[in-house]
Amino acid sequence: MKSPTKALIKRVVPGSLLREARLRLKGKKHYCPVCRKKVYRFQGLSEQYFEQWMKYRYIHSIFNSETLNVTAYSCPGCGASDRDRLYAIYLAGYLEHKETRFLEIAPSKPLARYIRSFPGVRYRSADLLMPEADDAVDITNMSIYPDESFDFVLCSHVLEHIEDDAKALREIHRVLSPGGRGILMSPVYLGIDKDYELKGPMTEPERWHHYGQDDHVRIYSKPGFMGKMRSAGFQIEEITMEKYGRQLFDRCGIHEGSVLYVVSKKQ
Ligand SMILES: [Zn+2]
Repeated sequence: MKSPTKALIKRVVPGSLLREARLRLKGKKHYCPVCRKKVYRFQGLSEQYFEQWMKYRYIHSIFNSETLNVTAYSCPGCGASDRDRLYAIYLAGYLEHKETRFLEIAPSKPLARYIRSFPGVRYRSADLLMPEADDAVDITNMSIYPDESFDFVLCSHVLEHIEDDAKALREIHRVLSPGGRGILMSPVYLGIDKDYELKGPMTEPERWHHYGQDDHVRIYSKPGFMGKMRSAGFQIEEITMEKYGRQLFDRCGIHEGSVLYVVSKKQ
């Protein structure tokens, strides 16, 4: 026979709340490697995006994006995205025992805090528009930085905004030291084999319709994105779940199909 207390709780507390409470009692199973805290669960991608894609009849499927966890997108504590968490996992191993001159383009606040926490890092951030960046720089012309002045460059979700992305990639290559590395990431769409880029001026609604965002200028295919990085002189390593294991990916809310592009400049 059920205890009177249990029966009473069941009558007055909605089932969904009970399930939630039970889950909470099981503890925080997830972990954000950016703020280094345990997390009950990650938050999904903002509904506002889905509303815009419906409104403007976005022609591609968001579920074909290579590195995007739609249902576990941001950390409730620090706001780091799933891709930020993937970078943190990689950088933890790379930055721990190295003196590194680090350049982050279009800095992510939580990630910048994380990168700066390594004692050997000398950090700069660059962006043309973000007031919090150290240097106001157009990445297609980073003349304020001498050749080979950084050991690591992180450029995430920037190139899809840049008309002359080949020039930006050549600049990143130029400022990197021989043997230096970088993380170069952009939204990569798996349903196409050539970059999707329309000619001529476009309105914001047209960009939402074709590219899924009002300030993007193309959608990269995987061969297109990798080809452009190679043309700029980079060697590319693709890092997948195979390296870190499903358990770590699940724990950190990283989608199993995620791919980290780590580039390097020849010695
Ligand atoms: Zn976090």
